[in-house]
Amino acid sequence: MTARPNYDLTTIRQQDLKHHFHPFTDFASFKDTGSMIFTGAEGAYVVDGEGRRYLDGIGGLWCVNIGYGREEMAEAMAQQARQMVYYSSFGHHTSVPAAQLAAKIAELAPGSLNHVFYGSGGSVANDTAVRMIHFYFNRLGQRSKKKIITRHDGYHGSTYLTMSMTGVAFDHIGFDLVGDGLIHRVSSPNTYRRPEGMSEAEFLEHLIGEFRAKIEELGAENVAAFFAEPIQGAGGVVVPPKGYHRRMADVCREFGVLYVADEVVTAFGRLGHFFASESVFDMVPDIITSAKGLSSAYAPLSATIISDELYDVLSVPQAEGAMFTHGFTYSGHPVCCAAGLKNIEIMEREDLCGHVREVGPYFETRLKELQALPLVGDVRGSHFMLCVENVADKGTKALLAPEIAIGKRIASECQKRGVLVRPIGHLNVLSPPLTLTRQEIDVLVDALATSISVVADDLTREGVR
Ligand code: PMP
Repeated sequence: MTARPNYDLTTIRQQDLKHHFHPFTDFASFKDTGSMIFTGAEGAYVVDGEGRRYLDGIGGLWCVNIGYGREEMAEAMAQQARQMVYYSSFGHHTSVPAAQLAAKIAELAPGSLNHVFYGSGGSVANDTAVRMIHFYFNRLGQRSKKKIITRHDGYHGSTYLTMSMTGVAFDHIGFDLVGDGLIHRVSSPNTYRRPEGMSEAEFLEHLIGEFRAKIEELGAENVAAFFAEPIQGAGGVVVPPKGYHRRMADVCREFGVLYVADEVVTAFGRLGHFFASESVFDMVPDIITSAKGLSSAYAPLSATIISDELYDVLSVPQAEGAMFTHGFTYSGHPVCCAAGLKNIEIMEREDLCGHVREVGPYFETRLKELQALPLVGDVRGSHFMLCVENVADKGTKALLAPEIAIGKRIASECQKRGVLVRPIGHLNVLSPPLTLTRQEIDVLVDALATSISVVADDLTREGVR
């Protein structure tokens, strides 16, 4: 399983340090410590250059849903690369896997979401959705309908547009936001941090009222779409109050606003279904964007999936005026689509969604036990998308100072115990491969529990708490 080294790790470390500009990286610590070099992976485990093995509680980046090292994935991709590695899907060209995968996604997607536009990642899928929406309303002659509403703590990507749509304040520091009045925001449906004295039911009404008021303030004739993750991911694994998405969708319908479900994380099994919108949240959006688990990260692939109604307007004959002039060299890349097809075949054959539905509640229950530990303010999430929120004071929910980097400290304690969990600010996030057994869940949760206790004791010793 461990790759036979045909390189010198010290050289790799230097090359990486000198020339590899890493995304989302604190360069202070990076320049001190360099990178952890991954050299092997199998099942739910990854291996570093020194041969240490870790249970991957992060699933790469919420994406390696079927787990690592699947021979038949490598074979399907290699086979496609040998057979016909690439042709563009512009115009009237296609490939066998691009067509087959589109049909398969349409079969799995809810409602009339029958049309798939391919890209290479979640940001591209969301950017594509905005271009579709603007083109759609222009075609309908509703040219003022352009504004996009997103939510605080929503994450939609890293292109300039999708970063601007993102509501994670930290991601905006040092940048300007594009769009000049294009993007507007409403609250995150975070029940843990809801206003003092408000019940969950009142909070729901508050959120719905706020959304309605925002549309009225902007003018429904100016509002094109609402973008929302079914469960907010990078913004803190925020599970909305029951009924939230349905109610928000009702408001959208009332005002002629399109609902885009950003299922980049939640689709392809993480919540126990191929798509969460209808199966978990009882609503059918106008557009679903997905990536990550679509290919389980074996190849870069995303899908912007749209309804019949949108497709009818967007698939305009060029002779009638504008054509939908949008697309990427790698839209529908045959090797990536072959990976997507094989990934879905594996998920269905092994009933990974059923496994997540069966084991997910156990995972949640086990993680909830951590609520009793010092530092743990909240444990939340659903199935294979979970998070622990660390706080300085459980009563007031006050946070520890950012320089303590509590999430990172706990994650590095976990690492010493052979387990990877993701630090996001004061949070620790879990999104492992969907293949995890109960025993592996125990290993993951036990390591996290011990790590939190160790860090809590250290902080006490240091006089921080
Ligand atoms: N939407 C959501 C909900 C995401 O979590 C992410 C990535 N974490 C994206 C969009 C952007 O995807 P990518 O990084 O593949 O561009």
